[in-house]
Amino acid sequence: MDNNPFEKTKIMGQDLAIASEILRDTELPLAKIVSLEKFSSIKIGGEALLVEASNLSELEGIIEAVKQAKAKFLIIGDGTNTLYPDSGLDVLALKLTGDFSAIDIISAKEGLIRAGAGAHLSHFLSIARQNSLGEAEFLAGIPGTVGGAVMGNAGAAGESIGELLQSLRVYEPEKGLITITSDDLKLGYRRLGSTKLSPGAVIVDADFKLTATDPGEISRRINQRLSHRAENQPYEPSLGCVFLNPPDQSAGLIIDQCGLKDLVVGGAAVSRQHANFIVNRNRALSSDVFTLAKKVRDEVKRLRDLTLDLEIGILNSMGQKIDLDGRLV
Ligand SMILES: Cc1cc2nc3c(=O)[nH]c(=O)nc-3n(C[C@H](O)[C@H](O)[C@H](O)COP(=O)(O)OP(=O)(O)OC[C@H]3O[C@@H](n4cnc5c(N)ncnc54)[C@H](O)[C@@H]3O)c2cc1C
Repeated sequence: MDNNPFEKTKIMGQDLAIASEILRDTELPLAKIVSLEKFSSIKIGGEALLVEASNLSELEGIIEAVKQAKAKFLIIGDGTNTLYPDSGLDVLALKLTGDFSAIDIISAKEGLIRAGAGAHLSHFLSIARQNSLGEAEFLAGIPGTVGGAVMGNAGAAGESIGELLQSLRVYEPEKGLITITSDDLKLGYRRLGSTKLSPGAVIVDADFKLTATDPGEISRRINQRLSHRAENQPYEPSLGCVFLNPPDQSAGLIIDQCGLKDLVVGGAAVSRQHANFIVNRNRALSSDVFTLAKKVRDEVKRLRDLTLDLEIGILNSMGQKIDLDGRLV
């Protein structure tokens, strides 16, 4: 139980400082202090010590240094589904770049394409289109990385990325590199589970099976998705949908029917365009978004006797996910 998840904490506790020192003494990339705002689509978050791994051996070396220092790390994608705390992170933020952004066609004939976990979904879609590979167009307009999308089984309109997965390569800090095939995955609504995926596992890359499709048709479907989003979603900084849709219902519609559009806490507001989006309207803090999401949840409970569950990940300063009561999830 974390009573005050937004309590100011000291960036760079002892363990992180040691990890940073170990990295300084190696050929590995240097860690630097950054503002998480720059790594967050809602432009919120305190500071963190960040290091970028551009290939597998750097990833292994960094994780080894973190283990030696008894510190912890958190993989960050594009922060389009994650609310970082105002107090910053007291764990090492680890970002996958370089080799991890590559996208390769493994077999055009079989529709097999491999995407690095750090690649952007938009890049993945564009390479697929160039190679006449379709059926992933439902991802158009979803921001973020392949790793973040796979981890949360991102999707839209009843389709999800997990359904396209053939296999995943995952770096397990205690076991090294392992492959998990689709048979070992359990797909849920914005959830990807596997008995082979342990906490702290890093997705390195993913193999997808797409279908031979005319590129003109792919472009048409992508454009259709993008214009639908442009008409229905806010342009202000956000994390996308805050709450999961209850079965056969739309969380956005319910929040709207409860009269909560434009509800404001500090600099955060429930969007006018889409009531399931909380936007950063005026230099919002993480605590503003948290309090506003909690108000929305509580009002929906009071008026509709329905409990909305979070779709976004809210993190405490140890990089752990918490719920709207501050409990670890
Ligand atoms: C405007 C907007 C619209 C959106 N629309 C949709 C939508 O239609 N459908 C949808 O599903 N989502 C949507 N989202 C949410 C978001 O874009 C997706 O969830 C996206 O897949 C998250 O990717 P990311 O790289 O930003 O992940 P992050 O938010 O950075 O990370 C998400 C989680 O994944 C973990 N993670 C990231 N990479 C790895 C890795 N390599 N290995 C292990 N763990 C990893 C992180 O630690 C974190 O726990 C939207 C967001 C915005 C801002």
